[in-house]
Amino acid sequence: MAAALTRLARAIVPVGLLAVLGSAGLAGVRPPFFGSAAGQQAPQERAEVVVVNGKIVTLDGKSTIAEAVAIAGGRFVAVGTNERIRALAGPASRVIDARGRTVIPGLIDSHVHALMVAEAELEQPFRNLASIAGIQSWISERAKGLPAGTWIWTPRVFPTRVKEHRFPTREELDRAAPDHPVAVDGAYALMVNSAALQAASIGPGTPDPPGGAIVRDDAGRATGLLRNVGNLLAKYRRDERDASREGMLDALARVHGAYARVGITSIGERGATVDGYHTYEALRRTGRLELRATVTVRIPNPTARERVERFVSTLPFRPREGDEWLKVGPLKIVADGGILAGTAFMREPYGVSARALYGVDDPAYRGFLTLTRKQIADAVDVGHRHGWQMAAHVTGNAGVDAVLDAFEAAQQHHPLPDRRHTLIHAYFADRETAMRAARLGVPVDTQPAWYYKDADALAPALGRDRLAHFIGLRTWLDGGAVTAINTDHMFGLDPDTAMNPFNPFLTMATAVTRRTEGGQVIGDGERISREQALRMMTIDAARLNFDEGVKGTIEPGKLGDLVILSDDLLTCPEDRIRSISADLTMVGGRVIHEAAPGEQSR
Ligand SMILES: [Zn+2]
Repeated sequence: MAAALTRLARAIVPVGLLAVLGSAGLAGVRPPFFGSAAGQQAPQERAEVVVVNGKIVTLDGKSTIAEAVAIAGGRFVAVGTNERIRALAGPASRVIDARGRTVIPGLIDSHVHALMVAEAELEQPFRNLASIAGIQSWISERAKGLPAGTWIWTPRVFPTRVKEHRFPTREELDRAAPDHPVAVDGAYALMVNSAALQAASIGPGTPDPPGGAIVRDDAGRATGLLRNVGNLLAKYRRDERDASREGMLDALARVHGAYARVGITSIGERGATVDGYHTYEALRRTGRLELRATVTVRIPNPTARERVERFVSTLPFRPREGDEWLKVGPLKIVADGGILAGTAFMREPYGVSARALYGVDDPAYRGFLTLTRKQIADAVDVGHRHGWQMAAHVTGNAGVDAVLDAFEAAQQHHPLPDRRHTLIHAYFADRETAMRAARLGVPVDTQPAWYYKDADALAPALGRDRLAHFIGLRTWLDGGAVTAINTDHMFGLDPDTAMNPFNPFLTMATAVTRRTEGGQVIGDGERISREQALRMMTIDAARLNFDEGVKGTIEPGKLGDLVILSDDLLTCPEDRIRSISADLTMVGGRVIHEAAPGEQSR
């Protein structure tokens, strides 16, 4: 039966006559296969699933809205009026009545860290520590159960998301746990207490590690703030994870289940190890991979050309190897730090107003690259020559300049068409850079929910002018750069309180309204339309992984991934967009989430 359905899908697709048409258009066309099939074909050769009475937002080139869609062999085979599509259903077909609700292509969150979420959840469920007092009491609680001298690592804390808009001080951490080394984990910056400085032997004479900084006071004493110190403290991070392989697969499946419940049907796992890719393969082998995943693989320590060469040549897979369920994505490097921790590499100094948020004293401070320009250029060049798409984490605009230089140089030395080397984050948009990215065929992967969560804290620190184009989607769009919006989900399983929130409707609402969590609008000109926002989470996100031919729109021949929404994304009041939920999520014609009637799915 499956083979017959696949044949059916193949037979239909190349004909092209079923291309999405408005209701008037479809009436005039008689698709040859189904036209003759209506009364004659065996039931198993009919559509497996039809969705009728919908407002089907196809996102095809003409922004067609249709009433119904049919799926066979896991793919869309026809889109059109209720009448035409109903005629494709047989006795064995599932008929889903959308009851007038909006149906969109399956959402693509092109930047998540589901593996990291799963691992962290196995250790302890994520807690959002939102104030200095909250951080202190979490640490004290933790210290009670641990012998003195045992290291304590907090869940991820970004100072922009702490009520006081700063890290706790060393003294505040000392009060919470005087006898335990404590590290507050801010990813690209750590804040530690006195016991931690002592345990790690960080004193006045300790040199800064390459690409990082031990922040010191006027007297030369370490304040406890450590920027981009990477491996300096890694050995003190006790691996509390007792994650059996099986436990990990269950945890990863749970994370994917949370995505399905908000309408996400494809993810970009954005920075896994080779082992992480094998975890995905194991999930797939055991029949539990319900979403489509593209796995970006991070190059560890790309500090020398030979290291990158060695890593690339020993990879157990080839560029873009895989299929529609699981495939290898680009190779990733990390070029600078993060703007939440004050380590993004900027063209202009952070300025005196940034002092409170970041603990920056030097008025000329601009953040820094974590690799040298040469290291960035070498890593990109090696990957490029070996046929890899390259992706660089880079948040600051000066960092973006350096990465684009590297992408351009690689193409000059070794021209290879359509490689889509990608900027990840690129938070400070400007028109020239957007046009340059467009000219180089470089797409942008960026996160509106960070604007929502962080702009209230960043505006006073970095200035409203700079924030007016922070995650400036209109700038990228008008400059012609392909732009995908996504969430960078790292910890926690609740779509709205996770770090970062992975509610895709919050992401799209922010793109449309540019409203911060505090209710401000900073940079009204960067707003985009609802359809543009939806395209950035579907078809444009698909382009990042060369998938625009197989997903991202509801058109015959594409994978049967769709979502039925609780409310109309295109017309509901703006302030309701973020509360839209997924009533039904389908991947390849299979329903992987369905809210009970009358129930909010989250
Ligand atoms: Zn990320």
